[in-house]
Amino acid sequence: MGTDARRMEAADLVRMTGELVRWARELGAEGLPAAEPAPRRVAGAPGRASGPDAGDRLRVLEELSAEAAACTRCGLAEGRTKSVFGRGSPDTELVFIGEGPGYHEDQQGLPFVGRAGQLLDRMIEAMGFGTDQVYICNVVKCRPPDNRTPKPDEAAACQRFLVGQLEAIAPRVIVALGRCAAENLGCIRPEARGWRGVWSEWHAIPVMPTYHPAFLLRNENMKRPVWEDLQKVMARLGRPAPRTRS
Ligand code: SF4
Repeated sequence: MGTDARRMEAADLVRMTGELVRWARELGAEGLPAAEPAPRRVAGAPGRASGPDAGDRLRVLEELSAEAAACTRCGLAEGRTKSVFGRGSPDTELVFIGEGPGYHEDQQGLPFVGRAGQLLDRMIEAMGFGTDQVYICNVVKCRPPDNRTPKPDEAAACQRFLVGQLEAIAPRVIVALGRCAAENLGCIRPEARGWRGVWSEWHAIPVMPTYHPAFLLRNENMKRPVWEDLQKVMARLGRPAPRTRS
């Protein structure tokens, strides 16, 4: 490895360590992971759901993204500036699913780029991932008016894109960000009350439902339970968790 590559790797490590300490301290945790960070996932590693290989994965996602950009299957097409398909790596073990694009996402055509997205990025980095090492998408690909929750018929119309994304990526774990995502993955019933923090499944892939980052911006005290949920995800993926104060 060359000097520049070593410098970049060291800079990456410093950045990730800083994020981890910042997020963990906010939540009352202390210390660094007890072990070295887990290595990046190797395609085909045990525990990964079966799916297409890397080239096919990318091709399928590009085709679906192009289809979503021209889609008029539901009324949300009328108000969109850009459809918002997904961002991150198709070759990942971890997928985050939110509800739908907001104003900034609609303008840029990328999911989670506003304040909630910045918080999500910090959460991801605190877990020991680069934001380009996971995949992030939403239940619906076009912005609902006034940022309302997608209606069941809109989510149903858009389901083929989400299913296509999950089947192509075949992650080891899904994190459902918010109740809408958890419901649309079939993890909870609409009438369920205590819904976050309990493992569920989508097509044999483990799903951890937790609060949406936008909710955390309004409810700082909910960061701790979310961090506990993310620690369960880290444990499931064999990644070390920071020590937490009792
Ligand atoms: S939300 Fe989904 S189904 Fe509706 S128009 Fe956009 S891409 Fe098509």
